[in-house]
Amino acid sequence: MNAPVIVWFRDDLRLADHAALHAALETVHPILPLFVLDDSKPWSYGGAARWWLHHSLASLGRSLTDLGVPLVLRRGAAETVVPALAAEAGAAQVFTGGLADPAARAADRAIAAALAARGVRFHRMRTTTLFGPDRIKTKTGGSYGVYTPFARACLAETPPRPPLPAPDRLPPLPSVPSDRLEDWHLLPSRPDWAGGLRATWTPGERGAAARLDRFLSGPIKHYATARDRPDSETTSMLSPHLRFGEISAAQVFHAAREWGGGGGGGKFVGELLWREFSHDLLWHHPSLPDTPLRETFAAMPWRDDPAGLDAWQRGRTGVPIVDAGMRQLWQTGWMHNRVRMIVASFLVKHLLIDWRLGSAWFWDTLVDADLANNAASWQWVAGCGADAAPFFRIFNPVLQGQKFDPEGTYVRRFVPELRDMPTRHIHAPWEAGGPPPIVGLAEGRARALAAFAHIRGVTPLHADMGGAT
Ligand code: FAD
Repeated sequence: MNAPVIVWFRDDLRLADHAALHAALETVHPILPLFVLDDSKPWSYGGAARWWLHHSLASLGRSLTDLGVPLVLRRGAAETVVPALAAEAGAAQVFTGGLADPAARAADRAIAAALAARGVRFHRMRTTTLFGPDRIKTKTGGSYGVYTPFARACLAETPPRPPLPAPDRLPPLPSVPSDRLEDWHLLPSRPDWAGGLRATWTPGERGAAARLDRFLSGPIKHYATARDRPDSETTSMLSPHLRFGEISAAQVFHAAREWGGGGGGGKFVGELLWREFSHDLLWHHPSLPDTPLRETFAAMPWRDDPAGLDAWQRGRTGVPIVDAGMRQLWQTGWMHNRVRMIVASFLVKHLLIDWRLGSAWFWDTLVDADLANNAASWQWVAGCGADAAPFFRIFNPVLQGQKFDPEGTYVRRFVPELRDMPTRHIHAPWEAGGPPPIVGLAEGRARALAAFAHIRGVTPLHADMGGAT
């Protein structure tokens, strides 16, 4: 009866609304909380996410210690570590949250088999998304490839159950050896590039709840109309907290619903459903992070342009809104969604550089780097995803800047050398005698259209097929 049950925390670093922890507590066995740092898999954490992970684990560890049971940290391949700890601790069962990540799913199959061989049960619960991957189906039982009907199907479902409370105590457990978090060296040392991250974020369950409160007490009111504006705080900035599961999608969903469908509530729920959709796509298309869903894109004549890639990464393309976005990313580990679309479009279309190089850079620099959201969004921008923006619709970054950052406030904040540029030139400083961008916008656009025509096997598209937007 005193054999512990393991609760293996993954992308759900919280105590409230945690289905696996809740189910484990119902067994009335002592709880052994575990986190495994598994660097053996593809798409292991990037640099910014490691910074976040360190602080999030420290926060979860403190909360668990307050409840009387410290978090056990182990490092290695999960399919080795989890069964070994179960044997070491004489665990009766293992509870965890299931993931869409194909490497994690493969590990889970191996873990389930290894545990079953020793008579230990392995339970995978839903802790990261609103709905399970098999819940939202088309009428013929298939998966959705287009967002709008997917979202409609989600909204027609019974809503996720109200959030579960955090436990206020845990049964005592004899101590189990753990790695020291500091010894994992997740934080940058020299150079310490994390100053802007520290100034922007408070990782952990409390930080997540505070971020939600801040959104509900202000920006949500104008979310439906202002969410595309990067020049002030118009969105929730919950993405890293959701990425690490410091707050559950259901907690956010119910809070938005309670706030009301008018104003921004309904639109905001729609964005949470984009997250669901991306996770659903990854579940059904495990190659999403590496392979274009539209096969014709395998023949795309991407350019090998290390200097262009480097200029893009460092925010030195000479296109103000692109440079502001890339510098916001480097400084804070986050970028506004509209600007993510603009910088991604510029890389893939004007520079004609493979979207996978952009997605890899985002992976390393975003604190919210999420395998499903990142891959699905890059494929969307590149035009090769399931429900993608057509490749021939090419964002004009000057027009985008003028529309969504009309005063140039955002550009001035992140590109200080343009601080004194008059507003009428802020998005095209070359018109006021400033240096030209690394690629002429008309020239880059024409080259992208020609490349697209090439993979479609047609003569180059006329400019009128896709207006610059
Ligand atoms: P809000 O507008 O407040 O939205 C609330 C939540 O909904 C977000 O926190 C996020 O979890 C979800 N969401 C919003 N928009 C999207 C979307 N388009 N797709 C999926 N989920 C969404 N988001 C990530 O979480 N991780 C990524 O790695 C990521 N990479 C991206 C790469 C590109 C090229 C693009 C264009 C978008 C990417 N996004 C990614 C989606 C989106 O930009 C961010 O989720 C959003 O900017 C986060 O800010 P927020 O929390 O203020 O969003």
